[in-house]
Amino acid sequence: FENEHTVRRFMAEKAEGQFHDRYERALEQVRTEFGRKYAMIIGGREVRTPATTSHVSPIDTRIVLGHLPVGSASHVKQAVAAAKKAFESWSRTNYQERVQICRSAADIMSQRKFELAAWISYENGKNRYEAIADVDEAIDFLRYYSEEMERNNGFETVMKSAQPNEKSRSVMKPYGVWGVIAPFNFPAAILVGMSTGAIITGNTVVVKPSSNTPIIACKFAEVFKQAGLPDGVFNLVIGPGGKVGGELVSNKDVSGIVFTGSRDVGYGMAQEFSKTRPKPLIAELGGKNPAIVTETADIGKAVDGVLKAAFGYSGQKCSACSRVYVHKKVKDEFVKRLVEKTRDLPVGNPLDPNTFVGPLANEDAYKKYQRYAKMADRDGKVLVGGSAIKDGELKHGYYVQPMIVTGLPKKHRLFKEELFVPILCVAHYEKFDDAIKLANESDYGLTAGIFSGKQEEIKEFLDCIEAGVVYVNRQASATTGAMVGCQPFGGWKSSGTTGRGTGGPHYLTQFMREQSQTIIV
Ligand code: NAP
Repeated sequence: FENEHTVRRFMAEKAEGQFHDRYERALEQVRTEFGRKYAMIIGGREVRTPATTSHVSPIDTRIVLGHLPVGSASHVKQAVAAAKKAFESWSRTNYQERVQICRSAADIMSQRKFELAAWISYENGKNRYEAIADVDEAIDFLRYYSEEMERNNGFETVMKSAQPNEKSRSVMKPYGVWGVIAPFNFPAAILVGMSTGAIITGNTVVVKPSSNTPIIACKFAEVFKQAGLPDGVFNLVIGPGGKVGGELVSNKDVSGIVFTGSRDVGYGMAQEFSKTRPKPLIAELGGKNPAIVTETADIGKAVDGVLKAAFGYSGQKCSACSRVYVHKKVKDEFVKRLVEKTRDLPVGNPLDPNTFVGPLANEDAYKKYQRYAKMADRDGKVLVGGSAIKDGELKHGYYVQPMIVTGLPKKHRLFKEELFVPILCVAHYEKFDDAIKLANESDYGLTAGIFSGKQEEIKEFLDCIEAGVVYVNRQASATTGAMVGCQPFGGWKSSGTTGRGTGGPHYLTQFMREQSQTIIV
């Protein structure tokens, strides 16, 4: 389970025998909607295009989920104009009203949770627990950012007076129109979290969802409308990244971009912004997340933690563990137990309640897995996995076996590149300092974990590890599973541009600029 809240809610509902029934009923309902035509939302209007794309499920590519419009740069321009117009009144709407709309959206999402999760399962292959956790996290973002607005009094602060007849205050104000560019892997949590950050602080948005998950984005546009968000505050443009995302980034009326996605696409945005007027860019990027297992570790806990972090949602979390450095003395035992458990992981259709590892999200990832599995076999020793699954019904989806490879040179590209598929590289070390060095020898710095029974090692890890989110002895998952309001989530180095985590106390200020106001009394 990804989200502790989900575990608790799930256990409570399971006790009442409700969880699976509700999810199965939601799947049935969603199936009745297959094949529908979807629209973009611009200034509150539904906008369609003559050409559409047929959008299929990664579970089974024979399932056509719906037909999606193909947006262009011109749609982005219209959406930005609508957002700019809506900004005039939305930016002056008091924060209590904005908070109230976000809370209504959270309530609606809660009521529609199973339906939204069923769409996520079909659209990007998450099993039911991961799909529900994704929606739960979206709800948590709406509620947490609402609390943050209140806790900070709408980000207005009374300052000291420079003169007896002056009153001064600091007021944080929205910028204008933000482009929200979302990845496929948390189509609820990340899309809603980034959009809420911009909207609740008084900005308006043009949202560009991943081409892998446009339908769930359409559902969230519906939710925000139902919650009473005025037209033009949340606009949705569906279309290819280069064209639609590219126009958002270069459009002069867009004041800032909030992006989550791969490092290279994020770097491209930073370069574009440096050519023209610098604008705020909040970019959460990739990861190559290490776990260290020391000779004093509880090996059972380390095996469980690494297994879940590496192979949960088929290794497609930015926080997935993809490298393990294990002490030479315990390597054989750790690897033996990890390989056994990996062999037993249920891989299959995510709609099946027993499935742990579902399909990859798309054909590119499926091909990438096969390419890198070959490379691992050539340059190292593959201990388990390494093939795509081509039998029975699964041959119609993007299913692969979770894979563990050892014996690779420590500077091998499999230790360096973010693959975003279920491939885990394991190496051993002899001196603890070397383990930390190896863990830090990466462009990325998103998450990291350690399993150790020694306080000095834990302290050294916490002092020296270069990552934004770190976990110690976490059996539930070595490197994944941040909770909104508990573990602010943001990357260091090439994993992020601002170093202030989502779901944390410093996130919202990034969407605002300060105005110092002085009034003579
Ligand atoms: P991606 O390929 O970078 O795409 C992300 C978004 O950018 C999509 O909406 C994509 O549109 C759009 N895009 C593509 N090219 C663009 C361009 N030239 N200009 C503007 N927008 C463009 O990433 P992904 O495969 O969806 O997601 C996986 C990546 O996200 C991984 O690297 C993962 O680590 C990272 N991630 C990071 C975090 C974090 O918090 N640090 C969280 C989740 C995911 P199309 O879909 O139409 O191409």
